[in-house]
Amino acid sequence: MTWQKRIEQRLAARHASDSFRSREVNESGSGRYLVTHAKRHLNFSSNDYLGLSQHPEIVRAWQQGAERYGVGSGGSGHVTGYSTAHHRLESELSQWLGYSRALLFISGFAANQATIAALAQKQDRILADKLSHASLLEAAMLSPAQLRRFAHNDVQALENLLNSACEGQQLVITEGVFSMDGDEAPLGAIAAATRRSGGWLMVDDAHGIGVLGEAGRGSCHRQQVKPDLLIITFGKAFGVSGAAVLCSNDVADYLLQFARHLIYSTAMPPAQACALSAALEVIRKGDEKRSRLRDNIAVFRHGAAQLPLGLINSQTAIQPLIVGENARTLSLAARLRERGFWLTAIRPPTVPTGSARLRVTLTAEHTREDIEALLEALDDETR
Ligand SMILES: *Cc1c(COP(=O)(O)O)cnc(C)c1O
Repeated sequence: MTWQKRIEQRLAARHASDSFRSREVNESGSGRYLVTHAKRHLNFSSNDYLGLSQHPEIVRAWQQGAERYGVGSGGSGHVTGYSTAHHRLESELSQWLGYSRALLFISGFAANQATIAALAQKQDRILADKLSHASLLEAAMLSPAQLRRFAHNDVQALENLLNSACEGQQLVITEGVFSMDGDEAPLGAIAAATRRSGGWLMVDDAHGIGVLGEAGRGSCHRQQVKPDLLIITFGKAFGVSGAAVLCSNDVADYLLQFARHLIYSTAMPPAQACALSAALEVIRKGDEKRSRLRDNIAVFRHGAAQLPLGLINSQTAIQPLIVGENARTLSLAARLRERGFWLTAIRPPTVPTGSARLRVTLTAEHTREDIEALLEALDDETR
């Protein structure tokens, strides 16, 4: 089959199963409102949980950073790309989270890929929660190690796998808060099982950092667990983008030798590191924002429990409503969009077949009225 034929066939299959993906042009930034085609929608789809993507102090920090350093880093961190702004942010993050070191990456996707690729060797085994993010599972699949997925949040299943013979090292991978379901991992039990086996634990806390735990220190801090490798990302509650790996001195030095995404890729702009330091400051003092978010979650859950849709047992800002079929999910999202609400229909292969959903995300910027209006529209459209 030619390239052209293969591509046409795969696109046709996507259309036939109502799983074709396309993008909309956002004319406004991704705050409380989202403007597309000159129409304003209430935004219930962004991961900007604390509303920091529009925060004036963070915007100013980025501007000032650009004035001081220019707009680009000029190279990989190993060449000219590592500035005082990067160094300062790494120190702040490692102190904040209680690790010896933090290493910055351009994205969470890159951090996960780089870390797993640098660590995993042929005899090793990676044990990952079945619902782990694509960046984790794909990296594990591409690595020379064996990948075994364990049933979602099932510590006994994990323990059974850990106890079966493995010639190399074992790396356990899970998330603090799961991105498509919003539920949390039992990190204490997972960490204990991992430690008993002599393996290492890697936790991706993309959706917990900034939001959960004392002063926003995230899922691990809240559950009093210190994984060997902690991945945090800055595209969600931090409102910016980028990521960091928190680890020991030796692991940081090791990644600086062997993580190809660090060595062969341009470092994030120093001005972005300045913005991230400002975002960290806002997050540390962000109890009021976190408490507004918690109230919003409670208001939504209370109302959504009355809807004829599947509400997941999630206490976080991610509140998926399970619809089931792709076509029905798409048409529900389209009707809500008509009424001025922006929600994304999440379909397989991102989630299991038959569990297509509207992934509602709440932020500290939503008002009670915003949420009540959404609940009313959902009630109307599903009755
Ligand atoms: C968003 C996300 C990532 C990817 O982070 P980016 O910085 O957006 O590349 C990784 N892991 C999880 C769990 C995520 O939700």
